[in-house]
Amino acid sequence: MRFGYFAAWIVCAAAIGADQRVSTTPSREVHRSCCERSTNAPAWGFFAHRRINRLAVLTLPPEMMVFFKQHIDWLADHATDADMRRYAVLAEGPRHYIDLDEYGEPPFAALPRTFLEALLRHTSVFGITTRGDTVLLYGSNRDTETDLIGLWRPYFDRHVVAAFSDPDHLLDPDTLVHFLNTQNLPAPPLRAALFTETLSAHGILPWHLQKMQRDLTAAFRRRDAKRILRLCADIGHYIGDAHVPLHTTSNYNGQKTGQQGIHAFWESRIPELFADEQYDYFVGKPQPIGDATAYYWNIVLHSNSLVDSVLAIERRLSQQYPADQQKCPETRGRTVLIVPCADYAAAYQQALGGMVERQMRAAILAVASAWYSAWIDAGMPNLRQLDQPTFSDEERREEILLRQQYEKGQILGRPEEQ
Ligand SMILES: [Zn+2]
Repeated sequence: MRFGYFAAWIVCAAAIGADQRVSTTPSREVHRSCCERSTNAPAWGFFAHRRINRLAVLTLPPEMMVFFKQHIDWLADHATDADMRRYAVLAEGPRHYIDLDEYGEPPFAALPRTFLEALLRHTSVFGITTRGDTVLLYGSNRDTETDLIGLWRPYFDRHVVAAFSDPDHLLDPDTLVHFLNTQNLPAPPLRAALFTETLSAHGILPWHLQKMQRDLTAAFRRRDAKRILRLCADIGHYIGDAHVPLHTTSNYNGQKTGQQGIHAFWESRIPELFADEQYDYFVGKPQPIGDATAYYWNIVLHSNSLVDSVLAIERRLSQQYPADQQKCPETRGRTVLIVPCADYAAAYQQALGGMVERQMRAAILAVASAWYSAWIDAGMPNLRQLDQPTFSDEERREEILLRQQYEKGQILGRPEEQ
């Protein structure tokens, strides 16, 4: 519980650093409004997500730079949209993490690497009959029933994957009955159908990255400048999250090991203190990512391999370091916050052996490589000829609404840092 009380203040500091608008508010109000909202601050903090997207642009080849450089500020500013959506869209939260420890031990061989196969093993499909009965048509525990998985695979591919983001997980009953008939499976008359799944509860980050890569490639193929920008900003965010070890474990804030607050300490406080002054941001040129499924799983599995060090090193350090030098007040605007002391953060960073810098550099290179690969896979369209993206009034209104939802501070789904 060492971090328990001041965890909120750490995050508060990160949020204020990112959002100077609160600095003119009277201090009591600042404390309350900031901390109520931002106990759910984004992964890497706003600071690092923006840096990662911005620096990824600077690695691109000239053929891409011609477009991306014009929009570098936009890509940095919108690097945190995905986190803001967590306050407005229920399906957004699980895209930012995966609790791998819920699936056994590394390398989690039994966990399907593609989303379709994972869904087939972690989903139940129900029908509501015309008489009002609920019947299980396809259930969990499919491991030994591979024949049934094979029969249902085309249906899942076409309909269940598509309905995944629907909060009610509804399916069209007529289509489902038609499918059951074609497979000679029992097909009671249905008036409704739906599915339940257990993947969302533990996060879908590596699977969602595969989808993002396909979507971004398609956007390049269509030469849709606006969609390219939006998807580049978002995939940059999710790739950033995938490089944070604590985004791959159910102990995401040290809450299971008495280290509450370590999430923001590792990913917000340390980068904000040291990234710009001490980190080497020269990461080389982007590379083709090859098989996106393997590529994104390797990133997540590597991050997961660092979880034990993230926790154990901080625990050891906190026992050796003078207790009264671990937490410090820090003035931001008119507010005094309690945060990990700069020297203590430096000691943690040192003890981690450069892990935060390495992960941040790897994230920058991976973001650039994801963008680059999508462009290559789309046939290297000439980005000089893209139309300037224009955002409609409707889109601008949606953006304002998104920010307002975020300001209200009601996250939907699991917060990262409580
Ligand atoms: Zn995130």
